[in-house]
Amino acid sequence: MWEAVQLELERRRAFVQKYGIKKLDYATIKNPFAGRVICGYCGSVFGRKVWNSNDERFRRSVWRCNNKYKVKGKKGCENKHIDDKVLYQAFVNTFNVMIENKDYFMDKWKEGIKSENTLIRYKSKQFIEILKNAKPIEKFDMDLFFSIVEKMVVFDGKKIIVRLLDGTEIEGVIK
Ligand SMILES: [Zn+2]
Repeated sequence: MWEAVQLELERRRAFVQKYGIKKLDYATIKNPFAGRVICGYCGSVFGRKVWNSNDERFRRSVWRCNNKYKVKGKKGCENKHIDDKVLYQAFVNTFNVMIENKDYFMDKWKEGIKSENTLIRYKSKQFIEILKNAKPIEKFDMDLFFSIVEKMVVFDGKKIIVRLLDGTEIEGVIK
């Protein structure tokens, strides 16, 4: 257990360093995607922009590549922004895909328990516990999100590759 925690901290340190994020833990209820949405084009992290309006119906949060507007004279990243509703939905879809393919994932994690890597062993056990009695979800669940997802790599506002903390990648397109 102790070793798993150390390895998890190490994983976070490496993640934060790789993407130039200040800290991963500051993600909150209102902002669960902070530091976890990554550009599929250039590998930079996405930042949140709130588009305000007096009319609540038009108020929305979008995420866009931090590389979008680069230094003068250079072209910024051309990836499109993504609506946070799409990110919420992508997680719901991902989790439900895991449930639909439970047998496949359970087999995978049973193998994971035998891994020589302590973190994979630990995560595999945790994933089995989570999935064992889980039912499909309709709404975003933050605890689930944080215990399952490493990052979401996004392309053009609709294609998303969700990478789980055990390294599994699940690709989806939101229409
Ligand atoms: Zn980008």
